[in-house]
Amino acid sequence: MKYIQFLFIFFNSSSALYANSDISCLSHYVGRNQLIYHIKNLPFSSDSRVIKKQAFEVSESMKVSDWVMTELRKKSFDFLNENSKKEIIDLDFLCLGAGPQCAAASLVLGHSKFSSLVVERSDYVAKTFAEKDFYINSSELDQLSMHQFPGGLGDLADYTSFEFAHSQQLATHIQVQQLISKVPVLFNTEVVEIKKVEDREAIKFLFKTKNGLRFRVKNILVGSGLGDIATKVSDPNYRDFFSSQYELHIKQPKQLQLVMTTDTFLVTKKLMDCESRVMTLPRRIAVIGDGDGSKIVLESLLTKSVVLHPETEIIWVGNEYKDFSDFYRSTKGFTRYLQGIFPFYEKRMITGVKGYIQSWKKNSDGSFSMTAEDVVTKKVSDFTSDMIIDSTGYVSFVPTLKQWIGASQTLKDEVGELNELDLKSTVLARRMVDSVTSKELNVYLLGASAGNLASRAELMNSPNKNPVSIFNTVPRTSSFLSYLTQTSKFPSYRGKKSSRQKVISSYEMIERIKLKLAEVN
Ligand SMILES: Cc1cc2nc3c(=O)[nH]c(=O)nc-3n(C[C@H](O)[C@H](O)[C@H](O)COP(=O)(O)OP(=O)(O)OC[C@H]3O[C@@H](n4cnc5c(N)ncnc54)[C@H](O)[C@@H]3O)c2cc1C
Repeated sequence: MKYIQFLFIFFNSSSALYANSDISCLSHYVGRNQLIYHIKNLPFSSDSRVIKKQAFEVSESMKVSDWVMTELRKKSFDFLNENSKKEIIDLDFLCLGAGPQCAAASLVLGHSKFSSLVVERSDYVAKTFAEKDFYINSSELDQLSMHQFPGGLGDLADYTSFEFAHSQQLATHIQVQQLISKVPVLFNTEVVEIKKVEDREAIKFLFKTKNGLRFRVKNILVGSGLGDIATKVSDPNYRDFFSSQYELHIKQPKQLQLVMTTDTFLVTKKLMDCESRVMTLPRRIAVIGDGDGSKIVLESLLTKSVVLHPETEIIWVGNEYKDFSDFYRSTKGFTRYLQGIFPFYEKRMITGVKGYIQSWKKNSDGSFSMTAEDVVTKKVSDFTSDMIIDSTGYVSFVPTLKQWIGASQTLKDEVGELNELDLKSTVLARRMVDSVTSKELNVYLLGASAGNLASRAELMNSPNKNPVSIFNTVPRTSSFLSYLTQTSKFPSYRGKKSSRQKVISSYEMIERIKLKLAEVN
């Protein structure tokens, strides 16, 4: 209940900066007709009826999520009870990481004869979307869904009537797919060691988890996503400080730290919001990186629970755009972040710094001095900030896995067809290869953990240009698993639909899930 109350605060809460910003000025840059389109479709509305509708729809999805997660936890206990006498649990397939890839894989595995399990180190399915509050950047349109799960239940449009759903709604949609697959998930189960062993002439893998479980598996499906929170800034002193700040975040997630990442910032913000606490930010904030992560963070600063200094200065490293016209041109028609970034440009709060961080130093007054070098012109800029939001990226789990099982650096492309895209041959997943014998191992990397699977040419014609988006990965995973398990492929329409369905109530959705669960596979 507390959470639902907070949602209303979240949605009702554009900051003074946003309220004072004349969004209609956007038309100066993007044209009047386009502006009407943007305002209708973009997440932050100033119309109280729209805000209430958004909040209501999110709270309904939250109810479904609570029910689904409870069911998933029950299944988890059932699995552990059934296997409690075993010293080691034998499985055909072990999926690592309970994100969208393992949900898509589970939908296929649940229809196969193979014993399968998902292990997840957090206590959530789809934690990327469940642990933070943000609006996603992939669209749910009237005739196109970017979140379709072949063989799954429903669409994201069952939860949202808007183009850009809230992260909680997408989390719910993914959790539902995992539950109806009937493949159990073990939570709080971090894999800490995997060994390759010869077992009656076949290669198997022995898993150890932090909570003391042991598995012997024939096939590993890796759905560990982009990876762990990390920085790409190379300065060693900065890296040490970054690590110590991350450790502090883990110990005290409700506290603002001096160096945060997109993920830690949004997690802390959500936890503080839940306690109705405001987040007061210092004057100079360096945002490092210009990918989606940095833009999600910037628009989160517009919510009322964030108190900005009246003379806020955002030093945006990697973003070279001097003004909003420049920034608008750089988006090449992808309008999702215009609304959230515009107020900062309009109030002249953004200073763009081209290049990569070259050096970093902590000053005696607690501020940070940094330099950034433009790789082309070699021009070096220096600046000072009081806080850093580092949105430079993640470190993949895959190199660790390769080391554990003795796999070579090179991966083998698993090529197949994607009929719904008219692709006769495309990379669906990647496979590990033994570094000594060069034999193919039954270890498959799915979605983001495999790197970029969609080719540049394919992305050029795709309505979603992000190679690791659900739209460009989940149909591949589903298709690949059907091939691997020799089961018939689920129909996949690449998100195409004739019309948008109406949002349904949490009650109706839960009833639909119950019916689906009652079906015999
Ligand atoms: C902030 C953010 C916003 C995004 N927004 C969108 C969007 O709007 N639309 C879109 O289509 N895509 C979006 N993406 C990209 C992409 O779709 C997501 O990253 C997606 O969640 C990737 O799915 P996945 O299943 O590959 O991995 P993830 O969802 O990242 O799941 C991996 C799971 O593996 C677990 N794990 C890792 N290591 C271990 C281990 N050793 N033992 C046990 N468990 C482990 C992790 O805890 C995690 O839960 C976004 C990504 C990020 C980071």
